[in-house]
Amino acid sequence: MNFEIPNKMKALVLYAKDDVRMAEKPVPKPGPGEVLIKVEACGICGTDVKIITKGMPKMPPYGDFTFGHEWAGTVVALGETVDEFHVGDRVAIEAHKGCGRCDNCLAGNYTACLNYGRLDKGHRTSGMTVDGGFAEYAVQHINSIYKIPDNISFVEATYVTTAGCALYAIDKVGGYISGDTVLIIGPGPIGLSVVQGAKALGADKIILVGTRADRLAKGMELGATHTINIREEANPVAKVMEITDGKGAEKVFECAGNTESFELAIKSTKKGGDVCLVSFYKEPVTANLDYVVLNQITLFSVRGEGNSNCKRALSLMSQGRIDAKPIMTHTFPLEEFHTGLDYFVNRKDGAMKVVIIP
Ligand SMILES: [Zn+2]
Ligand SMILES: [Zn+2]
Repeated sequence: MNFEIPNKMKALVLYAKDDVRMAEKPVPKPGPGEVLIKVEACGICGTDVKIITKGMPKMPPYGDFTFGHEWAGTVVALGETVDEFHVGDRVAIEAHKGCGRCDNCLAGNYTACLNYGRLDKGHRTSGMTVDGGFAEYAVQHINSIYKIPDNISFVEATYVTTAGCALYAIDKVGGYISGDTVLIIGPGPIGLSVVQGAKALGADKIILVGTRADRLAKGMELGATHTINIREEANPVAKVMEITDGKGAEKVFECAGNTESFELAIKSTKKGGDVCLVSFYKEPVTANLDYVVLNQITLFSVRGEGNSNCKRALSLMSQGRIDAKPIMTHTFPLEEFHTGLDYFVNRKDGAMKVVIIP
């Protein structure tokens, strides 16, 4: 198989805060251990909104940077030493590639790489510290790409980072959740993915907490056994206790990211149980940590996918145990990125994940 590779390509470029425009850029060349990928689909994430509106630490300079970290495509050229993948392979990427030389990378904990943003040390985060997927082509190191099973489309494959992040959160609290009651706060794409993961891994009761009826209804379709709408429920903690025979949930996943949701997370946890913080917090949080200590609750957090959970996500998707289709609700061509972004940010037409097709 051989692909004609042009010299120039279309790409979205971030020129300044809130200034994203289409530009023409040179098609990048894969270095040793890297492949060139023709991007077939790239999802818009909340992190992209943060990048566009506020910027991120270690981001490449304005006027050149192409973001996008949830993408999939076809391998069209191989860099030096690559024989693990072939031209024509359909692949999905994982955003984080660790440096491979720091303590944390050596222990396999590459999303907590101590050399984050150090290009000279080999660290890469696609669409955050190096160019990403809102372009016709992008390069990626083979340490952070996965072959896509035949029964999964490119659009569905962009779900691996979201699903991988949800599975990593479950992994972090021990992974073995069969028979446990799991509580998820925040029915966004990550929260709904934790619902799917919890169901796939055999949780008993799956309680989803949120503010929007349509998202909670979607959660029920995806495997939640109970929902609590905190706009309608005056005392959500009492409701959790009612559902759990007064004990609380063994595992709680905080996917909403504010003071109220954090407080609700710790108060909904069974004595001796675990809370995993999955979302970014917009502001510092004040909470009753004495409750955490008195009840021996363990707090965990995750960033990104980590620990081969993208691979596990692809496997569960291929087995039909996790479904990307209800999450990836809209697609737009690259030229209509701004429309797609508007749908994503303002949740137009029930938009959850919006995928851009270059
Ligand atoms: Zn993301
Ligand atoms: Zn590292």
